[in-house]
Amino acid sequence: MEYISTRGGGGSAGAGQAIIQGIAPDGGLFVPREFPEARLEGVLEAAGKGYPALARHIIAPYLDGFTGEEIRAVVDGAYEEGFDHDDKAPVVRLTGGQHVLELWHGPTLAFKDMALQMLPHLMRVSRGKAGEKARILILVATSGDTGKAALEGFSGVEGTSIAVFYPHGGVSPAQELQMVTHGGDNVFVGAVRGNFDDTQTAIKRVFGDAAFAEALSERGVKLSSANSINWGRLLPQIAYYFWAYASLVGKGAVSPGREVNFVVPTGNFGNILAGYYAKRMGLPVRRLVCASNANNVLTDFFSFGRYEAKRPFYRTISPSMDILISSNLERLLFEIAHRDASTVGAWMRALKAKGEYSVAPELMREASGLFAAGCCDDARTKAAIRSVFEAHGYLMDPHTAVAKRVYDDYLESTGDGTPAVIVSTASPFKFSADVLDALGIATGETDEIASARRLGAVSGLEPPDAILGLRDLPVRFSEVLCTDTIKARMLLFADTQPKG
Ligand SMILES: *Cc1c(COP(=O)(O)O)cnc(C)c1O
Repeated sequence: MEYISTRGGGGSAGAGQAIIQGIAPDGGLFVPREFPEARLEGVLEAAGKGYPALARHIIAPYLDGFTGEEIRAVVDGAYEEGFDHDDKAPVVRLTGGQHVLELWHGPTLAFKDMALQMLPHLMRVSRGKAGEKARILILVATSGDTGKAALEGFSGVEGTSIAVFYPHGGVSPAQELQMVTHGGDNVFVGAVRGNFDDTQTAIKRVFGDAAFAEALSERGVKLSSANSINWGRLLPQIAYYFWAYASLVGKGAVSPGREVNFVVPTGNFGNILAGYYAKRMGLPVRRLVCASNANNVLTDFFSFGRYEAKRPFYRTISPSMDILISSNLERLLFEIAHRDASTVGAWMRALKAKGEYSVAPELMREASGLFAAGCCDDARTKAAIRSVFEAHGYLMDPHTAVAKRVYDDYLESTGDGTPAVIVSTASPFKFSADVLDALGIATGETDEIASARRLGAVSGLEPPDAILGLRDLPVRFSEVLCTDTIKARMLLFADTQPKG
């Protein structure tokens, strides 16, 4: 499979190059030249052998140049350890035709593990194939969950260093503690003044800075990205949409070939985009419901074909979705524009210059048939956590609850009773204080570990060791940076790292 840029420049790249580079040379995002077909029979057969077998089946056609053995090593490296459920991504029935796909059984309790446990292995193999001698420095901007998942995936991986930047005061206390206590010599963690969009924009600028790349090159270092702009982040995510479908078939909840809906709590548009790619590969999907919190820029986009990033930014109880510039939407735009890169380029230039762009109604028509979108504020999110717990005894984290709330609205307004999968992106114990608050329990607890214990007592669930264990770890990082000091700090960091 060859990869091309959404901006049209720069020819094409193989899978390994696309993964090492992270972003295309013209500033666009790598997309596969075409979507391989995944026939349902083969999918169900592979799924019958377990999640790793299915993952291999789905990702192999995208990784030409990788041997079967290498693909096996990549997938086993990702999923053999660190997950607390044999299914890796279990599907749980909530009520009627509603199911929940739990993507948070990995080491950092959020869905980012599904891909970030695999990306380091993809990079390691790609680096070997390319004969890459330079040390790879991974730069990550995180709204909370990517940072820890990337640290978990990359710390200690030979030939790589990782630096994670999060918005100062813009992540949950548990998320911050998970990151600033992370061990390993090849690791840097810094808070950045500003919100997530400021952080992400600053990191993107660093990637585009030729003089900085030269300064790193003199140190034997090359930049790459572990954000969901990297193809190696998206690819592993396609597999769990097929897995969810196969699980529903296995439970007798849908007959093979019948369509299902997926409801996805969305921020940077990476998760739901993988669902779209699954559909393009042949998965029977009727609607993809894009759920946002109060930062509802995508709801407006799908409703009106107009993307307006200039609007108030809200800090919510679902911080991993506090995003106004959804990077991966560019990949969907490329399809909306019938793969005309010049049209995508014009929209992206307008976004940069004016903070907005509009897509003509005739181009939006297809996307509007497939995507539905909705949003909900914190109050309705909390009400959803509480009502789901009271009605079904099921505990949802705030991100998942946004999806549930938006799905209920969708169901009410459309009457579309197609079997639905609510994609659950984080463990409720990552947001214990807010979940307790939603349940109407005044905690008075001052720290995350005490809150997690309390939530465990209330719900009858065991709080995960990944949270309880944070108590004993020393805080290693406490720097707060301005966006324009990131580069200088990274040169200092690079100087502390082994060469090549
Ligand atoms: C990252 C994240 C999201 C948003 O996913 P995108 O791929 O950025 O749309 C939603 N929920 C949680 C818990 C996350 O960590």
